[in-house]
Amino acid sequence: MRERPTPLLTFSDPPTRAITQEYTPTYDDDKTVRQWYHNVPLYGVIALALAPHPSLLFVLVQHYLVVLKAPLHFITHLLIIYTLTFMMFSSLIVLVARDPGPVTFEEPRDDHDAEEVGLTEALMSPDFLTPGRFCRICWTAKPDRTHHCSFCGRCVLKMDHHCPWLGNRCIGHRTYPAFLHFLLCITLFAIYVAVLCAHALYYAFNNPYTVDEFSPVHEIALVFAGVTFTIVIGSFFVYHLYLVSTNQTTIEHITPFLLLRYLPVLPNTGSNSHLSDPPLEHELSYRQRRLIKEAHGHIRVYDIGFRKNWTQVFGWKQPYGLITRIVCGGSSMGDGKSFPRGADIEERLARLAQELVQDK
Ligand SMILES: [Zn+2]
Ligand SMILES: [Zn+2]
Repeated sequence: MRERPTPLLTFSDPPTRAITQEYTPTYDDDKTVRQWYHNVPLYGVIALALAPHPSLLFVLVQHYLVVLKAPLHFITHLLIIYTLTFMMFSSLIVLVARDPGPVTFEEPRDDHDAEEVGLTEALMSPDFLTPGRFCRICWTAKPDRTHHCSFCGRCVLKMDHHCPWLGNRCIGHRTYPAFLHFLLCITLFAIYVAVLCAHALYYAFNNPYTVDEFSPVHEIALVFAGVTFTIVIGSFFVYHLYLVSTNQTTIEHITPFLLLRYLPVLPNTGSNSHLSDPPLEHELSYRQRRLIKEAHGHIRVYDIGFRKNWTQVFGWKQPYGLITRIVCGGSSMGDGKSFPRGADIEERLARLAQELVQDK
């Protein structure tokens, strides 16, 4: 193998990992980042998911078997409740067990040293020369929509957000459908429990001598918990429905200045000589910042239309996709590294760049 010449410049933490398929950064790589107490919120989520079941079973037995004497209704409600619970836990397992999106690259085709070729490819590719396209911490190229998570200590493909509640992990390209499935199951479960118990409570108020004294207490507590979870998790779920419909991640939605990375080369008017290419947030004037914030509301780089956006997230073309989607949310289409952009997006970005240099 060729001897490597002594470099003129060395980094304090020299790259030791090859950017190839052989190296896939995983959560277990960095034991210092993940501690046992990071899982405590996850245990809390599991406890919250299991907490209503004793009361719920008590209410079901008392209301449908003892009072109404309707075993068929009892079995139907039991089946619906435990199907939703099973679906909730299956997507939770996917969220905890599946890697949200490891950044890997193809094996180099020639017989050069893999590390050298991988790095050179990454560094010299015009795509990765622009700011935000190379991670100096992981020492890897960052594909489209990839972000470095400081909690996980690594890059995640199409990172949506870092979730401390689900095992202190990121929600990324490979786990986002399971995350939506999990939110949907909790919301449906909460609505179902609230309606079921409200109905039993209504019956108890109208027929006070036929029910025991404990059932209404359980029913009031379950209605309260059901309504609370419907409002809290349901509104979070609706927010994510909006994000899927407009093809945005949470990070993209809450960070308007990410738009600067997509701008074409600014037209040179002399007045913008202080701006980098692409411009950085702190270089912008107040008016320019406001312009970008306004543009962020309607320029969505990856929005390719409502139906295609949904297809991209839930992979409607995959074989046996329907079963996995029902059980645990399925998986997204594509490799998570490149995403199609909206039809007229380049034109709109060029117009924005023009406005940016005029609006000093
Ligand atoms: Zn990184
Ligand atoms: Zn993370």
